[in-house]
Amino acid sequence: MKQSKMLIHTLREVPRDAEVISQQLMMRAGMIQKLAAGIYDYLPLAFRSIRKFEQIVREELAKDGCQELLMPTVQPSELWQESGRWSFYGKELLRFKDRKDAAFCLGPTHEEVITDIVRRNVSSYKQLPMNLFQIQTKFRDEIRPRFGLMRGREFIMKDAYSFDVDDAAADKSYWAMFNAYTRIFARLGVKFRHVEADSGAIGGSFTHEFHVLAGSGEDAILSCDACDYASNLEKTEAPRIPAVDHGPAMALKPAHFKTPGITAMADQARAFKDAEHDGLPLHQTSKVYWMDADIVVGKDADGHVTRRLAVAVVLRGDHEMNLVKVKNSLGAVDLQPMADAEDFTGALSGFLGPVPREGTRLWDLGRTDPEGLVYLVDKALEGASNLTCGANETDGHHFGFDPARDLPGARFLDLRLAQEGDLCPRCGKGHYQAFRGIEVGQVFKLGTKYSKSMNCNYLDEHGKENPMVMGCYGIGIGRTVAAAIEQNFDADGIIWPWPIAPYQVHLLDLDPGNAMVREVAERMERELEAAGFEVLHDDREGLSPGAKFKDADLLGFPLRAMVGSRGLKEGLVELRDRRTKEVVKFKPEDVVAQVTAARDRMMGELAIQGGR
Ligand code: ATP
Ligand code: MG
Repeated sequence: MKQSKMLIHTLREVPRDAEVISQQLMMRAGMIQKLAAGIYDYLPLAFRSIRKFEQIVREELAKDGCQELLMPTVQPSELWQESGRWSFYGKELLRFKDRKDAAFCLGPTHEEVITDIVRRNVSSYKQLPMNLFQIQTKFRDEIRPRFGLMRGREFIMKDAYSFDVDDAAADKSYWAMFNAYTRIFARLGVKFRHVEADSGAIGGSFTHEFHVLAGSGEDAILSCDACDYASNLEKTEAPRIPAVDHGPAMALKPAHFKTPGITAMADQARAFKDAEHDGLPLHQTSKVYWMDADIVVGKDADGHVTRRLAVAVVLRGDHEMNLVKVKNSLGAVDLQPMADAEDFTGALSGFLGPVPREGTRLWDLGRTDPEGLVYLVDKALEGASNLTCGANETDGHHFGFDPARDLPGARFLDLRLAQEGDLCPRCGKGHYQAFRGIEVGQVFKLGTKYSKSMNCNYLDEHGKENPMVMGCYGIGIGRTVAAAIEQNFDADGIIWPWPIAPYQVHLLDLDPGNAMVREVAERMERELEAAGFEVLHDDREGLSPGAKFKDADLLGFPLRAMVGSRGLKEGLVELRDRRTKEVVKFKPEDVVAQVTAARDRMMGELAIQGGR
């Protein structure tokens, strides 16, 4: 392919709104451009990488007998009402009406449509297991689309769905897909790892995420340095730690410590002084997060009826709340910090506490609807007493707080964020190490959530009807390609891993005006292509070699072949490795052998580093 004819417009400057490196480099390399927030054009270079990654995905899924189909992007609301998600799925679901006033949405995922397809076409146990996938454009009206292809509103996803006769068979499908993902990301040549994860809005019984490891990743991962446990921080189990003994329990002493204007926990701990105390350890302090939680309490014609609860989440002063754990422990469909917490408790933020004070809305709610008030206390405070807590009175803190005694109906649960260095609760030997990752894929065991609500049943060998047991499996195609760049770049540009490079060889004609140079370059292009290599031939006239080198570095194909009049005088051309910058000189007729050897070396290195 001649570069002079290709749609590539490189930029010298970093586009102003490009926040992360993959986005900057893909925009500068003329691979993508923004059409609207979170919506990008995939220009030819990007599309080549995307197609290559899709091909890897297709090949690996085919090995497990997964069949490809294509479902519509536009989905009727009726299906979503059947599954119950029309009212559950938040604003990310873009809903609209057609000219006949019928409601539709743009598919953010396809559980409903695939379940409908299978219930209409599969009825016997003899047809199961069934595993179907598509590679298709999804739309999620993300609140803050960002980072280019990493968090778009419109993006390409591979989504697969498995249908089985029972749990054991569904587990087999799950692990087959898990293994296929491992092969897919290893073939890509990126460093990745799988982690246990939260099942989120899709629901389901268990799930793993696959992360490409990169400092810019949005997800925090903790993994044990002694056993196999690795998990998304959202889900990571915090080790059980016994409550610290702070002496015989005392009565609650309201507003005992005066702490004017002091809100930071560490400052408070120092400020807790009285006749017996000269400052307190942080682990003797507590803090509360007042939250609004929406819980489903019934069903009506429009979907679900929810009830709003006021939730106090109480933690040790030196621990942080894990929102996902709190949300899951309540089974809440929505959980938000209480916007009017100051009004509710009667104190300014920094002095909020869990214990109601007379004359406040918190006190009123506790008396009129104690069930509307929920106390969740982190396990690390089980059995603790003599703690401090906010007094719900500006500039004051209580002392002698005992959560089990002072909070009616308090439940003690694991609610905190685990931390790097925590003892691993799984093996009890190792400690957590922290990583950052980009979630590129996820496998879910769904169970019968959709098959039951949508009547996707099969007849077993005794003629009895049973719901199918499902799994669903996603890979973000564009996000993965971007994540590969996040792991493979330098100051000059992208360094493509061979398997998804838009082209493998960038052939630079450094002297297009010279007939001999042009002839040799043309011949090398033909020979490489005949040998099956993908070549972009920079035949552009009127550009200095330096300008061509800069572009080639930015585009970052694994190999750069260079033909110039100076080298040809000695009968030599050059091949440069984008990653190591090593250059070899050889006769033009050896180009296929040289490129083949370089490819084999690079693929060998990928095989070693692939995986973790
Ligand atoms: P996230 O937590 O990052 O929002 P998710 O868990 O909601 O993602 P899934 O429903 O698991 O996403 O979708 C499967 C895959 O699709 C993800 O693993 C990710 O690679 C990709 N993906 C999800 N949302 C986006 C997006 N907004 N832009 C690009 N890719 C996405
Ligand atoms: Mg996910």
